Amino acid sequence: MKNAILVSADKHWRTVMEGTLLARGWQVASVETLVEGERPDPAEVQALIIDAASVARGALSSWLAEGAPKLEIPVVIAPGLTDAERFADALEGQMRTVEKEASPVVVRFWGVRGSIPTPGPATSFYGGNTSCVEVEADGETIILDAGSGIRPLGLSLMARAAGKPLNLHLIISHTHWDHIQGLPFFIPAYIPTNHLRVVVYSEVRHDLAHVLAMQMDSAYFPVAMKDLPSHPEVEEAGDHFNCGPVEVEGFFSNHPGLCAGYKLQTSAGTIVYVSDNELNFEGQAIHLAAETADHMHERFIATLKGARVLIHDAQYTRAEYKSKLGWGHSAFEDTVQLAGESGVEHLVLFHHDPLRSDAQLNQLVRDARAIVAEKGWTMRVDAAREGMEIPVYPKGHSAAPR
Ligand SMILES: [Zn+2]
Ligand SMILES: [Zn+2]
Repeated sequence: MKNAILVSADKHWRTVMEGTLLARGWQVASVETLVEGERPDPAEVQALIIDAASVARGALSSWLAEGAPKLEIPVVIAPGLTDAERFADALEGQMRTVEKEASPVVVRFWGVRGSIPTPGPATSFYGGNTSCVEVEADGETIILDAGSGIRPLGLSLMARAAGKPLNLHLIISHTHWDHIQGLPFFIPAYIPTNHLRVVVYSEVRHDLAHVLAMQMDSAYFPVAMKDLPSHPEVEEAGDHFNCGPVEVEGFFSNHPGLCAGYKLQTSAGTIVYVSDNELNFEGQAIHLAAETADHMHERFIATLKGARVLIHDAQYTRAEYKSKLGWGHSAFEDTVQLAGESGVEHLVLFHHDPLRSDAQLNQLVRDARAIVAEKGWTMRVDAAREGMEIPVYPKGHSAAPR
């Protein structure tokens, strides 16, 4: 584990730098300042990273004059936030040697928030758009949900296509606002030569075409669904369907009004998306018929077994969950437990609460990793962040984690 201590009087700088390093697997602690004589133990800390502005202001001059020369760990003066990623690259002292094109499967996050978009300074690092994840796998572009994150995805797809027609699969978990509201703003749907297939596991929604058309009724939106130039094809599928060579399995999650999770079988292994799911092992908040809810925990474990990437609801903490029983979302501790028991390789905490700030999400990642370490699991845990990209290599590939 790589450990760093961040030093800055600027809370926002600390939050963004913490998030940047946490996302790269660093363990990060941060402090406002350092006092004379303070010397971190080199056995525990690999870098001390100081905000350049704090140094410029002279805030650390006495510590730097007295303590820094005797330190046995590198002191790195870090720049402003515009260069945070480049700084982190340099800090790790290595350029990525594997080209992204070498990966057959890439998971990209465009909307990671639950319930309602939450733009603003407190959420600018992890992002405020609602659910939308892109999976590029085996020649197919698969989109999971159409929350407000699908708008920037649409712009990116158009730019990447450079005028060529797009063939897109949009899989819908359920039709709560935060999973469909971006669809009217999805530019590729307005290009007649594009093909857009919108698909849902039929057991959770028998009237998808009607529900999607309703949100584009003239009372709410100027363009009707039926007038979209790409003429999206809306499909209610069984529990197994295909997106090209990618086999998809739909299954019930525990959420008011029914919701599906999806397991994607790609050439690099399974990617599982469970955006909204109340993991309630005490069985107090069940939204499913008794026979479906039976052995739910065991069935989730069977479904998730060995997943390369699991994207799962982690809206609350256990302390918060006590007053949110039956709201259809999980405490992150339960999510970590389920993923760890299932032997998931990489857990991505998803569907962040609208009230959760960037600084709180950094803490949530630390807490989640502490549980993993305590259990002795090898699972990687991150919080989903807009713009985050996870390449998934087939097992045995030189870039795949061992
Ligand atoms: Zn949701
Ligand atoms: Zn919902």
